Formats: sequence, C-alpha cells, structure tokens
Amino acid sequence: MQIALYQGGQSKIEGVADVVKLSSNENPFGPSDKAKEAFARCAHQLHRYPSTDHLSLRTAIAEVHGLDVDKIICGVGSDEIITFLCQAYAGPGDEVIHTEHGFSMYRISTLAAGATPVEVPEVDRTVDVDAILAACTERTKLVFIANPANPTGTFVTGDEITRLADGLPAHTILVLDGAYAEYVDGFDGGAAMVEARENVVMTRTFSKVYGLGGLRIGWGYGPQAIIDVLNRVRGPFNLSDAQLDTAEAALRDREYLEKCLSENARLRLWLSEALAEVGVPSDVSYTNFILARFQSADEADACDAYLKQNGLIVRRVAGYKLPDCLRITVGDEASCRRIVHAIRGFKEAKE
Ligand SMILES: *Cc1c(COP(=O)(O)O)cnc(C)c1O
Repeated sequence: MQIALYQGGQSKIEGVADVVKLSSNENPFGPSDKAKEAFARCAHQLHRYPSTDHLSLRTAIAEVHGLDVDKIICGVGSDEIITFLCQAYAGPGDEVIHTEHGFSMYRISTLAAGATPVEVPEVDRTVDVDAILAACTERTKLVFIANPANPTGTFVTGDEITRLADGLPAHTILVLDGAYAEYVDGFDGGAAMVEARENVVMTRTFSKVYGLGGLRIGWGYGPQAIIDVLNRVRGPFNLSDAQLDTAEAALRDREYLEKCLSENARLRLWLSEALAEVGVPSDVSYTNFILARFQSADEADACDAYLKQNGLIVRRVAGYKLPDCLRITVGDEASCRRIVHAIRGFKEAKE
C-alpha cells in the first residue's frame, strides 16, 4: 500500500464532448494502416495460443535496427521489461536509482520488487551523471535513465552516458529507457553501448511514435546473460499474436514512421516558439511533447483549469516535482493551434 498508484493522462472532461487529449504523448496520427490491417487479420486466429519466442517480431527488430536477434526480449509495453529487470535484479535490501524527474514506473517497479528506490537530483531538468555516480553504493543494483527523458524532454549526450557507464560499479545494471529514441535523429537509443558492455540494457516501445500505446507492446535489448534471466521470469504467453503481428507491421512501415517524425519535428518547433512568444518557455525537446514552464505552480494550475474549460487536456506534472510546469503532447496541426490559442487567451485574461 506504500506504492503510489500510477497516474495516467486524463482522457475525459465532464460535460465536454469535443476534447483534445494531449496528456499521454500518443501519436496524433495513430498507427500505420498496415498495422491496422495486420491487427484485423489476427481476428481469425484468436483461438490459437501465440508464439512463445516472439521470433518473427524479434527478427524484424533485429533487421530494422541492425541488432542481434537473440539479445532482444519483447514485453507488454516497455513497462513489463522494467518490471522484469526489477523482479530479477532487485529485492529487499537492494537500491535502485532513478532521477528527480524520472518516469514514475521505475519507482513503482522497484517498490513492487521489495527494493528501495533512491532518488537523485537533476540539474536544470536534465540528468546529472555526477549525482548518480555519487549515489551508487554496494547495494545499487539498477540505475534507470530515460534518454530522451519524460516528462522533461531533455537529452543527455553519448559522452555523458559513456562516462556514467564507465563510472558505475560492475554489479550495477544501467537501464537506458529509449521510449523516445526515434525522435532523435541518428540516435540508436544506446544499442551500441549494450553491445560494448556487460551491464547495460536498453528498453524501447511501440507506444509512442508507432502510435500503438493501446496495444501494449515494447522490447528490451541487453547482454545475453541478462536476457536469458529476463526470459525466465517472463510469462510464456505474455504477448498475443495480435500484439506481435501488429507491432511487426508497424515497424516495417518505415515510410509512415518518417512522415510521423517529420510532422512531429515541424509542429514541435512551431508549438514551442508560439508558446515562448506568449511568455511560456520550454527546454529544447527531443521528444513528442514539450514541458511548458509557467511563473508559479498556481499559474500552471490555473492554466490547466482554463484549458480544461476549453476542452484541452494536458498533463500536470506536480507528481514529478515540476509543479510550475504542464506537459503538452505535440498533437496534429489543429490541436497545436488550439492549444496555443487557448494559452494565449489565458495569458491575456490574466493581464
Ligand atoms: C511512454 C513511456 C514508456 C513506454 O511505456 P509502455 O509500457 O511501452 O507503453 C517507457 N518509458 C518512458 C519514459 C515513457 O515515457
């Protein structure tokens, strides 16, 4: 009962029909048509148990990303890979490090495994490698970092991550959560670092740029010895063929992926500049959302209430120690225009 329940992005407003949901970093364009077709085809095979080794999807991931198929594990969202890591590597008496504004699932999974979460400060909403290294003890089993990070949208360079990996004790596993890796041009999410070391694991998801948050599928990439362990705590039928086949079709549709990425980049820049013009700055984002900063927690609260009245749902991030901020997913062009119009209206009404 000491675990705080995960707070998902709100999706409804009482009495408002035409809401725009910008609270869960979903792809506003949805999944690729090829993914939807693959999902529909699965209806005919629902009486069959699914594959237990996920070989077809793992092969596709290996081909697309240039990885070793044997070192890939698929899970019910990357959340499940995070759960497996905590379950397998952390227990009572062990410590698991996450950062000040880090994704809340790290803490939840740590506590569920009976281990102790250790929170490390960030600097200007960015992961601080020195603070993490200073917090490591002989009991530190896992270090979780999302890069790019949620809910801050900031990115730590490869040199900094290398410095972190070099400085960690050998008994500590570094988990690089690449939920937003696709949004950083040319970034491998940490795959090369996994290849080069024995204690680095990468997690990835189909929930963000692939537009499959509702399907629940993600994957991990790690040293063979770690993947072999995770496969022993993984349920044999953790993923249905509908999940596996749909994800594979989405992954193979590179043209649609590129289209989503370029629209996101264009609209993210427009959104951040338009909000800065009305006095709402944000850090440069490497993701599909921006973290809008207000003058105070009260102003962020008031703006959130104003947006709700106007049918716009964004994400409060006070639970992430960012009470003066609102996280806004980059929607389609109409949603971006609507949110800027509303925030401008809020600011003007205050003056
Ligand atoms: C969205 C997100 C995930 C993905 O979760 P799934 O379980 O794959 O839907 C993982 N990590 C971070 C930081 C995220 O923002």
